[in-house]
Amino acid sequence: MNFAETLHTNPIFDVVARQAAALDVRAYVIGGFVRDLILKRPSKDIDIVCIGSGIDLAEAVGRELKVPVVVFKNFGTAMLPSGREPDVVTEESKPVPAGPTLGWEVEFVGARKESYRSESRKPIVEDGTLEDDQNRRDFTINAMGISLNENDFGQLLDPFGGLEDLRRKTIRTPLSPAITFSDDPLRMMRAIRFATQLGFDIEPDTFDAIVEMKDRLAIVSRERITDELNKIILSPKPSYGFKLLYHAGLLDFIFPELLLLKGVETIEGKGHKDNFYHTLQVLDNVSERSDDLWLRWAALLHDIAKPATKRFDPKVGWTFHGHEDLGAKQVPGIFRQMKLPLNEKMRFVKKLVRLHLRPIALVKEQITDSALRRLLIEAGDDLEALMNLCRADITSKNYDRVKKHLANFDKVERKLRELDERDKLRNFQPVITGELIMEAFGLKPSKEVGQIKIAVREAILEGTVVNTLEAAIPFMLEEGRKMGLEPVKDLISNLNSTSAENTH
Ligand code: ATP
Ligand code: MG
Repeated sequence: MNFAETLHTNPIFDVVARQAAALDVRAYVIGGFVRDLILKRPSKDIDIVCIGSGIDLAEAVGRELKVPVVVFKNFGTAMLPSGREPDVVTEESKPVPAGPTLGWEVEFVGARKESYRSESRKPIVEDGTLEDDQNRRDFTINAMGISLNENDFGQLLDPFGGLEDLRRKTIRTPLSPAITFSDDPLRMMRAIRFATQLGFDIEPDTFDAIVEMKDRLAIVSRERITDELNKIILSPKPSYGFKLLYHAGLLDFIFPELLLLKGVETIEGKGHKDNFYHTLQVLDNVSERSDDLWLRWAALLHDIAKPATKRFDPKVGWTFHGHEDLGAKQVPGIFRQMKLPLNEKMRFVKKLVRLHLRPIALVKEQITDSALRRLLIEAGDDLEALMNLCRADITSKNYDRVKKHLANFDKVERKLRELDERDKLRNFQPVITGELIMEAFGLKPSKEVGQIKIAVREAILEGTVVNTLEAAIPFMLEEGRKMGLEPVKDLISNLNSTSAENTH
């Protein structure tokens, strides 16, 4: 196979070829870029390997293209940064210097030979041939190179039958799988990740070696594991990856809480659904609706507290009361364990887990405005994501039932939108603050202040009072009087001067 024509369409390869010839080193494009080129799949970065110094070649290419070069002396590598932000920021994310960039990230490395010790992922590295370099690669489909040298420019170099494995949609290690995985156990996660991203099978001997070596994953950092897990979650059909992780015996180590969802218990002839497979179905469903990593995490975690809240009631069967609240409480611990960010992304997931039953509760004949308002206020800007999660949560195999549930959600959503249009409560803040109540009645912070505040808030939610100072101040004064309080200040006469700035 020859790829000369394709490579000429991206000027970077001609520049690398020219500079490699000038330095008298042989250079190849290798790994993921070659794989994705053959699969006609968009690829994010370009890896160049040369028989000689990767840093020297990178600097020569950077000079010709007038782009900055980032050098990693310790690793003997260098890169031309893409200028794009990394997808997921990790501690290893590289600094991006200012200056013009190519839009592609290009990494340069000298061909190397690696040998491993048992206690670490960090190999002993020495200079090597192209074959040595291909031997150290993780999978046959990732070990192919294309020559950038004058005599055979565009020629595919495929010592392990990677092309054939692409055709057969197979993930297979180039050397003995047990050694490959024992050397660097992260490759077990990568095998499952590539299988999931590409929809490939893992070749049986390769899979058996993962089962055998699974405990070695313990020497891999949590950040690396989670990085691969996130790529599985972002795949078109993530459930496949989770099933592979489960069957390989890796899920128990990386995500024990999810495994607890597995299984069906039966008492007095009544069973419940298997919440592991249900959750995976919800994850796939939500993935058809959205590419958002965090919405997908919310799908994975929405029923996470079902095992802890499971009860059997002889009258009604299995119940999971409160699993949404307990589940929300479990989110930070799981995020911490997984080294996921403990920021607004986590709060988003937590919120969706907590609210995931609320739209279902609204699917009734008589939906009150106040119930709708409460959900609007609590969901805020995440209402659409929540509705996506709820729709994905319908996993009945009965087509008519699914259709009915979806239609009900459409109805709820329509009502929510109408109400939102009407009273613009999405980011609701009651106009009556604690300070205002204290000012009106000359109070210090106290129980009464809280009671009046709640009374005003409830009246606004019920729709009996509009959320403006004009309407809410008289109501607040009346509530105070009922409690035996007398106003010490004439807020109503002051209204005209202050209302313009305080209402919204
Ligand atoms: P993507 O960029 O889509 O994640 P990729 O195959 O390019 O996929 P990278 O992590 O960018 O993956 O690595 C580039 C290449 O380096 C791989 O194709 C593979 O040849 C090699 N490689 C990366 N990580 C390992 C590893 N842990 N063990 C062996 N080879 C690896
Ligand atoms: Mg890559």
